Amino acid sequence: MSNHAMSEYAVKTENIHKSYFSGPQQVDVLKGVNLEVLNGEVAVIMGPSGVGKSTLLHIVGMLDRSDKGRLWIRGRDVSELDKVGMARLRNATIGFVFQFHHLLPEFSALENVLIPSLIRDSKNADEDYARELLERVGLKERVLHKPRELSGGERQRVAVARALINKPQIVLADEPTGNLDKQSGESLYHLLLELNRELGQTLLIVTHNEHMADNAHRLILMDDGHIADQKVIARRS
Ligand code: ADP
Ligand code: MG
Repeated sequence: MSNHAMSEYAVKTENIHKSYFSGPQQVDVLKGVNLEVLNGEVAVIMGPSGVGKSTLLHIVGMLDRSDKGRLWIRGRDVSELDKVGMARLRNATIGFVFQFHHLLPEFSALENVLIPSLIRDSKNADEDYARELLERVGLKERVLHKPRELSGGERQRVAVARALINKPQIVLADEPTGNLDKQSGESLYHLLLELNRELGQTLLIVTHNEHMADNAHRLILMDDGHIADQKVIARRS
């Protein structure tokens, strides 16, 4: 484990455990995860299917709680927060990009991007910033399109813009190109890396993409509920 002040960590976990019950059977999914990601880093999580990557991302994103262990988000001890405190910290700090875009079909790209902003403060949704983000992800001409009028790659770009609308310090992405063709996938990765450089958020991403791993600061390999290897491969600029 490296030596950094707590305030330098975007994410830190200590001995995280998580089990699920399917019927009477207990499945131990996370078995003591110690994760460290510094502010501003691009950290890539890789590993076989079923080893607990998504479960870990859900816990880090405060969508779910661990059974045991501690989690700090930018130095804040999440273990001490109640449900409301967790939701507040999540809305203020975290943006999510999932494998499935989860866009609302009845709403335009612009409206979808605005939803987290409305949830945060219903009277002050930042439409100008939503338009700026849609332009930034290359969808200036698609602002009023509904999800069904967009390609898979375009939908994920809307999801990226939506993840950024509240200016999160941390973006969590779970196989964001899992449903895209190779070219759209590569282009989404470039976009995520560019946005990290421009906006300086921390990016924690689960992916099988080698290109992303080559361009990360930190590479985390998961196996069977553990972190099998975690190494810094580049310094933050
Ligand atoms: P990965 O993202 O690495 O593929 P997951 O974190 O999705 O792995 O899942 C790890 C294991 O936990 C899998 O065996 C999966 O079946 C199980 N699991 C995940 N979510 C649940 C749940 N809600 N209830 C029961 N089992 C679950
Ligand atoms: Mg997964």
